[in-house]
Amino acid sequence: MNCEGWKEKLDAYADGELPPETTRSMAEHLSGCPACTAEMVQIVQQKRVTASAGKRYSAPPELRARIRQQIAAKPARGGWQWALGLALAAVAVIGLGLAIMLPSRTAARNQLIAGVVDRHITALASASPVDVVSSDRHTVKPWFAGKLPFTFNLPELAGSPFTLDGGRMVYLDSRPGAHLIYGVRKHRLSVFILQEGGDFSRLLPTAAEPWRSLSFNVTSWSAGGLRYFVVSDAAPEDVSALAALLKQANS
Ligand SMILES: [Zn+2]
Repeated sequence: MNCEGWKEKLDAYADGELPPETTRSMAEHLSGCPACTAEMVQIVQQKRVTASAGKRYSAPPELRARIRQQIAAKPARGGWQWALGLALAAVAVIGLGLAIMLPSRTAARNQLIAGVVDRHITALASASPVDVVSSDRHTVKPWFAGKLPFTFNLPELAGSPFTLDGGRMVYLDSRPGAHLIYGVRKHRLSVFILQEGGDFSRLLPTAAEPWRSLSFNVTSWSAGGLRYFVVSDAAPEDVSALAALLKQANS
């Protein structure tokens, strides 16, 4: 399939709606095609903007007017009943407004995870995905010293299928963190390490729990005051295996 053919499927890919076989081929194509990857980043960002715009809507004026009309059309009642009816209607309007304005906890968590996936895609789509290019953890780890308000350990990869490409600075939930990029076979994995707190502590579980988001496998856990994420289009077993190595290195 040529790029035009892939581009038509990007939207469905971003929504995780493609069959597994096509999803795999798409991931493979994206890992070697900057043009399609750039378009993919745009689609993901567009989806995020639309999702956050949706949160700002409140009950539309027509709905308020209709409720008022319904109240007015009711047969006359005693003073306190009328007041109670009005109060209940007001509660209904406020409740509806809040339900539309406040995303559910799950929606907020999914958006946080989508943000992490977004950073992974954006980094891989950029001309230089890493700021410190090295396969040696003893070079990559010290590069972050002085840039981050915390330290962490990177795992020994000898005997594992993983390779280290390097690292870069990242900002997630308004806090600075380390973004490490690893390889496994033809896939890239992003590891994000940040301080725990804020939305991370509020929305994400402490223990690792795999998610699927935008056709990517994501796992996240909290340990020693730090929040870890592993994101990749690689198999869930690969994501779990790298997570296990990181946990071991930081235990
Ligand atoms: Zn392409």
